[in-house]
Amino acid sequence: RVIPRARMAVRSNVITVAPILTKLQKDCATPLPVLRHVADAMAADMRDGLAVDGGSDLKMILSYVDSLPTGNETGLFYALDLGGTNFRVLRVQLGGKAERVVATEFEQVSIPQDLMFGTSEELFDFIASGLAKFAQKEGGNFHLPSGRTREIGFTFSFPVKQTSIASGILMKWTKGFAVSGTAGKDVVACLNEALERQRLDMQVSALVNDTVGTLAGARYWDDDVMVAVILGTGTNACYVECVDAIPKLQGQKSTSGRTIVNTEWGAFSNGLPLTEFDREMDAESINSGEQIFEKTISGMYLGEIVRRVLFKMAEAGALFGESVPEKLSIPFVLRTPDMSAMQQDNSRDLEAVGSILYDAAGVNSDLSARKIVIEVCDTIAKRGGRLAGAGIVGILQKMDSESSIFGKRTVVAMDGGLYEHYPQYRRYLQDAVTELLGSEISKNIVIEHSKDGSGIGAALLAATNSKYDHDL
Ligand code: BGC
Ligand code: MG
Repeated sequence: RVIPRARMAVRSNVITVAPILTKLQKDCATPLPVLRHVADAMAADMRDGLAVDGGSDLKMILSYVDSLPTGNETGLFYALDLGGTNFRVLRVQLGGKAERVVATEFEQVSIPQDLMFGTSEELFDFIASGLAKFAQKEGGNFHLPSGRTREIGFTFSFPVKQTSIASGILMKWTKGFAVSGTAGKDVVACLNEALERQRLDMQVSALVNDTVGTLAGARYWDDDVMVAVILGTGTNACYVECVDAIPKLQGQKSTSGRTIVNTEWGAFSNGLPLTEFDREMDAESINSGEQIFEKTISGMYLGEIVRRVLFKMAEAGALFGESVPEKLSIPFVLRTPDMSAMQQDNSRDLEAVGSILYDAAGVNSDLSARKIVIEVCDTIAKRGGRLAGAGIVGILQKMDSESSIFGKRTVVAMDGGLYEHYPQYRRYLQDAVTELLGSEISKNIVIEHSKDGSGIGAALLAATNSKYDHDL
């Protein structure tokens, strides 16, 4: 079946879609004043969220991590990572400063769609059984002193109100998860119950957000790491804050005087340049009105925004000929990795763009249409990357106002598939940081990919918070 397009004279698709493209570019524009506003608003929202729980869009969650890995950690630890597209299990044998990571192994499985909409028990049983299978394969490179329980660092990448380093309550799901019966519960208790059902004797020593795991993992190798950002399916950032700058801590001191704060910046919404496509996508989402920054800059959504633009261009401007390809009307058929792949096509006739459009969305395109598609992808990636950069600068500004960091080397550890696999996005992000901070200050801000640091990071935090003395 084909959807007939509105009656209009057949003109070149370049001309008919031009006004749509122009409006899109105008609505998505992120000139310096817009970036500056976003950075300042981010810093202000951080301050409000630190003052009192519920003080702003940003939850500014206390992680209960106030000492970071030093390199001295030793022993066998496990990590579990649940957060987006994949579920990962990992074990690592830590050998202290001299040997660092003696051995490590991991397994990864993608999360079946139906588990994202099932019950809490089903989800945690899936996790626990994956862990049980993996633990059975523990071989000779790994050593646990007798009489000890295996300890786990649990990376759970959703907004969790931590109640201690090893417990926390799920506030809400994000990233398309809609599992019933978990919100409002302690996710470590949920996991423990499932571990018992598997008769698996393991125990969670640290519950961490993926940003916190990434910060810990990167800090293991580099003492200047102060911020960690995830740009993957979803997005978030955490950073090292001074305890004195957190009124809602109400005098609880940490020995180091510092603690990691999980901003949950995905919920930021202040002053973002949004379009009709963003509003419609949000309205039709399962968490409408929530996670607006995440919906503007993260991997789950960029491809879908592009699809919505292309659909309108097909309908109103005959971008792909007389009829609208039906598959293009299906939400999420165009994925962010497709966008990135199309933008890597440097050939003269954009052959790869054509086949990606056809495979993903059933679209037949001529060269002029492909060029427009690239422009649309670039517009959405540019807005996302630049806003992410502005968010990072907001965090750095806030940190600098507590204890000056500008002028010193400061590392921002980055991870997530979007950051890793979308070079244009990465470049736009870096450009925005440089534009906002100026070339002098930004020389000292090192934005660095820390690949899969969160798994090792969670294991390290389990070690730091171990029930046992691993130095023996
Ligand atoms: C979650 C965060 C997480 C981020 C990146 C967001 O949707 O709310 O907790 O850190 O995704 O995985
Ligand atoms: Mg992840």
